[in-house]
Amino acid sequence: MTQQEFLDLVEEVYKFHTKRAPGIVIGVEMVDLARRKLGPVDSLGAVTETQVCLSDVIQYMTGCTIGNKYLIMRDKIGRYALTLYDRKDGRGVRVFVDQNKIDKQKMPETFQFFLRQRSEAVSKDKQARKESAKIIVDEFLAVGRNIFGWQFVRVKDYKKPPVNPVKICPDCHESFIYTEDGDTTCLACSGELDYYQLEQ
Ligand SMILES: [Zn+2]
Repeated sequence: MTQQEFLDLVEEVYKFHTKRAPGIVIGVEMVDLARRKLGPVDSLGAVTETQVCLSDVIQYMTGCTIGNKYLIMRDKIGRYALTLYDRKDGRGVRVFVDQNKIDKQKMPETFQFFLRQRSEAVSKDKQARKESAKIIVDEFLAVGRNIFGWQFVRVKDYKKPPVNPVKICPDCHESFIYTEDGDTTCLACSGELDYYQLEQ
């Protein structure tokens, strides 16, 4: 990928994500690196270790999405990292941000970005956020887009998850997918996942 192709792709992902988040520039390089190291596979799968913008980069660039279940969310780990793998055998490549490659002198803003230590203004002020994002992108391009480590991995439990059965909830009379045999009502009616209340 040439620098121009790279930047064009970044613009497309910005649109998909609806925000010019600096992590996207970094994420595009990470997904591309993982793809190159893995080589062509018939059935690509992905795992993300964070929910932030990286998961949108993966969905846009690979077609592995939450909806088709080819993107597995392991976002509770919270590392800015991903794995692309072959769904046939679980063989994969994991790409991560190597903090040792982020030179504090050459990439001060990026260094603070990954530690969530950017100035107070960045969280409050749109203009400051925009300027910070631009600095991070410039720093990243200046070091040749290389702040990553990667490793060959074998994904555990890569086989398709079982399709769970469905039943009718006796309270709301809607059908729902259940995973626990003991569930008699859906998790909204049981109160476990009731995320809304009805407006009068
Ligand atoms: Zn219900």
